Amino acid sequence: MKILRNIILFGISVFMLASCGTVALTGRNQLLLYSDSDILSLSEQSYQEFCTTAVASSNANATNVVKGVCSNLLTAMSDYFTKTGQQHYMADLNWRCDLVKSNEVNAFCMPSGKIVVYEGILSYANTPDLLAVVIGHEIAHAIARHSNERMSRQMAVETIGNAVLTAAAGSGKYTSAQLNSFNTALGIGSQYGLILPFSRKQEYEADRIGLILMAMAGYDITKAVELWEKMSADGGSSVPAFMSTHPTDAKRIANLNKCMTEAIKYHPKYEEYVKASQTAKSAK
Ligand SMILES: [Zn+2]
Repeated sequence: MKILRNIILFGISVFMLASCGTVALTGRNQLLLYSDSDILSLSEQSYQEFCTTAVASSNANATNVVKGVCSNLLTAMSDYFTKTGQQHYMADLNWRCDLVKSNEVNAFCMPSGKIVVYEGILSYANTPDLLAVVIGHEIAHAIARHSNERMSRQMAVETIGNAVLTAAAGSGKYTSAQLNSFNTALGIGSQYGLILPFSRKQEYEADRIGLILMAMAGYDITKAVELWEKMSADGGSSVPAFMSTHPTDAKRIANLNKCMTEAIKYHPKYEEYVKASQTAKSAK
């Protein structure tokens, strides 16, 4: 079993060499086997389906606040990418931001740039800074092309895995029960789509990029830990939809704290921040 797994991992690394992308702001290499246009048209189709049943919030004030936070984050990000010659990270993305009527505690950003915030999440994210934590995190998944990466990985595993398994089954070396358990271990046959929960690695990366976007737009990045802890503590027996895909634990909080030092450097008032913390230190 270990040999088969190694062969598959080797195959994935061959795919990686063939179709590598680089994640915005973190520089991590990623596997992207789908074209941006494929992902965008799938994403637009999903969004249109969502819109057939979604109802816009009638709370004008809250809608303005949500749209304002989206706009601030997107403008700051766009300015940064333009200034640094990295506009390609936003190419083809067609941004739109809406607050929808629903008590569900949820929010998402489609890979095509459609941001949707549910009224239910406002009971936790009830200030612009806290909203920026949620929205920044969701925008991060889109610009980091996490959906494409997840689907690509699954495609690579299925393609290589099936070829190896067919060969192995033909040689009579493995029983069908062994092959089934191998399939299960690799997640072969599991349903995949655009709004599947992301992997832990992608979640940590979206936290990291989200903090950077918040800092670029001048929001208080320290609110991130407060928001995740607040949502986690209130989860109780009925875990909100958002929390079921965004479990908060000590590792997630530690990762957020680790990313603060990097993110704050993107803040427009970074120098003032450094001066203030030096003054505070010397006063101790
Ligand atoms: Zn996420």
